[in-house]
Amino acid sequence: MYEKLSMYIDGEFIDAAAKAQDVINPATGEVLGQLPHASRQDLDRALQAAERAFVQWRQTSPVERARILRRVGELARERAADIARNITLDQGKPLAEATAEVQGCAEHCDWHAEEARRIYGRIVPSRDARMRQMVLREPVGVCAAFTPWNFPLNQAIRKALAALGAGCTLILKGPEDAPSAVVAMARLFHDAGLPKGVLNIVWGVPSEISTYLIESPIVRKISFTGSVPVGKELSALAGKHMKRVTMELGGHSPVIVCNDADIEAAAVGLAKFKLRNAGQVCISPTRFYVQEGIFDAFAERFVAQIEGTRVGDGLEQGTQMGPLAHARRVDAMAAFIDDAHKRGGKVLTGGDRLTVGEGKGYFYAPTVIAGLPDDARLMTEEPFGPVAPLTQFSEVDDVLRRANSLPFGLASYVFTTNLQTAHHISSNLEVGMVGVNHFGVALSELPFGGVKDSGIGSEGGQETFDGYLVTKTVTQI
Ligand code: NAD
Repeated sequence: MYEKLSMYIDGEFIDAAAKAQDVINPATGEVLGQLPHASRQDLDRALQAAERAFVQWRQTSPVERARILRRVGELARERAADIARNITLDQGKPLAEATAEVQGCAEHCDWHAEEARRIYGRIVPSRDARMRQMVLREPVGVCAAFTPWNFPLNQAIRKALAALGAGCTLILKGPEDAPSAVVAMARLFHDAGLPKGVLNIVWGVPSEISTYLIESPIVRKISFTGSVPVGKELSALAGKHMKRVTMELGGHSPVIVCNDADIEAAAVGLAKFKLRNAGQVCISPTRFYVQEGIFDAFAERFVAQIEGTRVGDGLEQGTQMGPLAHARRVDAMAAFIDDAHKRGGKVLTGGDRLTVGEGKGYFYAPTVIAGLPDDARLMTEEPFGPVAPLTQFSEVDDVLRRANSLPFGLASYVFTTNLQTAHHISSNLEVGMVGVNHFGVALSELPFGGVKDSGIGSEGGQETFDGYLVTKTVTQI
């Protein structure tokens, strides 16, 4: 059974609404269910519930808050099979990836439960022996979060855990394209004993909901994961009302593969990582700069691995790449490839839509293109799909200049067996995360975030609560 879709306001699941939208299975085009849209009254109820709940929740001890977060993790592990299946149904990724997403979320619960008990202030030595100077860290208040469809559970639960662990209350709008995981998340918190009003889930037209919530005087902080243009719009609106923001925005990860790299490990690992979630990942390897001495050998092995990938319905056993999440992404891929043809790119494999089953799903062939100039669309705009442009470089300092030339600064990957080269490149890349000879940059204990246009703030790691806390100085004599 697919998840029963609902809003979650003031501790109540609400599935009746004047307006609703169809949720589609991207592998088959079938309608899975109807998602209720929040009315203005629903949004007002959520705002009032979050404001009321904040009074108690901020006073709830960190030990008690941590107990609930840990319980959410336990329940997520128990319900992993159902939640994952529903993610595959409405988002499209292979079941194994959806299961790994849920398990990873349970780890985020453990991490946040542990760290929530360590939100320390400090005592600053005073100039007067009678005086005590304290720096306190307090929850910012009611928060509003907007999360996308590519990791529907992960993106939402990281924001919920950070906000709630810090003592804030939250209104979250999840992704209308793939909503089941966010409803499942509300059930996890509800069943873990979260007091009513601390977490509220709403759905609707994204721009209408975000504008209403950001402009509300009740909301003190905004967190968004999504594209750079939308992130800038929401930040501007938040700035107009002097509200704090955390922004996890798009990337265009440069990959630098040096002559001394382990070609087999780099080519196979990068091909698999590129096609994870059909390339719809903000830290997906994007621009492949391969040093000229190994370009041909790397390209041959990389293309062979990409071509061996089994594409299909994510629920079918053996599927390694599912459909794109919605029809918009397939059109976007076609436009990127059109431009690549015009700019003299050579398609090494793929380059077209794919027909799978009855042909109603949103499939695109895993694609590799060589020979594009640095100003082609694929080299400058986030493809967010299963398309990899390969290009050559000769000097490391020149490739660093090219890698840093875009306004994005999220993740990057370097393949070399030379320690000094690894150090030089990782020190000089203008990004928030660098993986040297591997890809593990998104773990609960590590801060995840970007620089430049890729965003503001971090999620995960010790930094995870920073965006949800304000600093208060108290001096007492
Ligand atoms: P989009 O920009 O329309 O939507 C991206 C996400 O932002 C969706 O979840 C959407 O509901 C939300 N959104 C859009 N406008 C909003 C608004 N005014 N207020 C609040 N939320 C809003 O694009 P799309 O076609 O759904 O996705 C394509 C692009 O989105 C990609 O190219 C990629 O750059 C970006 N994206 C990034 C991430 C990420 O993890 N950083 C995730 C998903 C999508």
